[in-house]
Amino acid sequence: MEAHAVNPWVAVAYLVAGVCFILALRGLSSPATSRAGNRYGMFGMAIAVVTTLITHEIASLPEIMGAIAIGGGIGFVIARRIQMTAMPQLVAAFHSLVGLAAVLVAVAAFLNPDAFGILGADGNILNVSRVEMALGAAIGAITFSGSVIAFAKLNGNMSGSPILLPARHVINLGTLVLILALTAMFAVAAHAGPGESPLFWAIVALSFAIGFLLIIPIGGADMPVVVSMLNSYSGWAAAAMGFTLHNTAMIVTGALVGSSGAILSYIMCKAMNRSFISVIAGGFGADAGSAGGGEAREQRPWKRGSSEDAAFLMKEAENVIIIPGYGMAVAQAQHALREMSDLLKEHGVNVKYAIHPVAGRMPGHMNVLLAEASVPYDEVFELEDINSEFAQADVAFIIGANDVVNPAARTDKTSPIYGMPVFDVDKAKTIFFIKRSMGGQGYAGVDNDVFYMDQTMMLLSDAKKMVEEINKSLTD
Ligand code: NDP
Repeated sequence: MEAHAVNPWVAVAYLVAGVCFILALRGLSSPATSRAGNRYGMFGMAIAVVTTLITHEIASLPEIMGAIAIGGGIGFVIARRIQMTAMPQLVAAFHSLVGLAAVLVAVAAFLNPDAFGILGADGNILNVSRVEMALGAAIGAITFSGSVIAFAKLNGNMSGSPILLPARHVINLGTLVLILALTAMFAVAAHAGPGESPLFWAIVALSFAIGFLLIIPIGGADMPVVVSMLNSYSGWAAAAMGFTLHNTAMIVTGALVGSSGAILSYIMCKAMNRSFISVIAGGFGADAGSAGGGEAREQRPWKRGSSEDAAFLMKEAENVIIIPGYGMAVAQAQHALREMSDLLKEHGVNVKYAIHPVAGRMPGHMNVLLAEASVPYDEVFELEDINSEFAQADVAFIIGANDVVNPAARTDKTSPIYGMPVFDVDKAKTIFFIKRSMGGQGYAGVDNDVFYMDQTMMLLSDAKKMVEEINKSLTD
């Protein structure tokens, strides 16, 4: 096994790959440089993969190439078929595979430590390697089962509402403490030869269970934090695999993914005005039955608008702020929307896009779609940079957004989105609200007072169809 005497050229290649990954993260921090960031990432990964293939030790080259062909083939077919709206659950599914891979690597090392160069002279697995493999298996198993639940919730196989077990905090904390205690016992166990200690299997089983238990109580609008947290876990699982496989590139890459995912989770928590601990402990803001006043929906009056109304009023407006949300992604309305803002600009209207950090179903969802439609970056603003401008806006044009404009987040303590900063659309002179029906709700499943405000006109239609009709009226 190569592990303990690393070829200096391999070390240099991995170092270059690591630098590329850091440049990739730097590039991805702004939409303007994200393409370059992606290229750095791909280049770094190519260096890491080629170096690993050249210096492979554990499996034979045909085995590795066979596995790449099968995995790559499946990935290719899935990538071709996947709908843009199903991307968030696909990402969750991929995270689950990283977790499972970490568990399988740890299991392989546990059953055949000699092949990994971690068998001591006394016939036991080296103590430090036992800690590495137990942590790798535990983080991997938590990532796996947590991601499977996140997938089921995002894919609609499971209700997005929290499932609250009684005494869940005690159960979760107790299980985590038990996993750590078993890891310590496994590290110093007297009999720890290949496949010998049942402690290892207990750690794996409990970790699968805790991943499941940690994610089922998370509901309402807290899923974005879970998605980025699982992203972080998948990085730490890969780093742990790197220790078992003695691969520096994996350790560095895993740590970069793990820490950038953790920073993203922190940013998402700040955006949602949540405490990180409350979210990961599960069930934040999830008191059963809190529906934020949805019962009254039937009785309250609301106004229906038409594409002609929207075209007429926006043409005459000075400032229009567009708030896209998940429905824009469902309808794939971004190209028609860009056309609409071009037409409005021809009429001298000042058009801006307002992006909430948790709009859509994955971090950066709206930015990606707007970039795809070549919306200029300088027209796209973050929540804190634009929220004060709604008071001067003639029109707030809400297209497929709902939770991120719901004032219940400011006022209704029983609402699952209470405390999340939202756009002050109610301060705009006129609000156009595109959604398909009065019945459909946002992700958090709560009613929205904006539907019933005096200055609101509901444009009930598929978002793309409605915007195309507005564009027609604007050109007539
Ligand atoms: P919401 O999910 O709150 O609302 C989506 C809106 O789009 C609904 O009003 C829906 O109404 C409408 N809609 C759906 N399809 C169409 C269509 N084809 N045409 C027109 N309208 C449509 O979206 P937001 O973006 O405002 O909020 C995101 C929510 O998702 C937040 O609660 C967030 O916490 C959560 N979330 C975010 C993640 C992230 O990382 N960004 C990850 C997981 C969850 P109707 O059905 O009547 O058309």
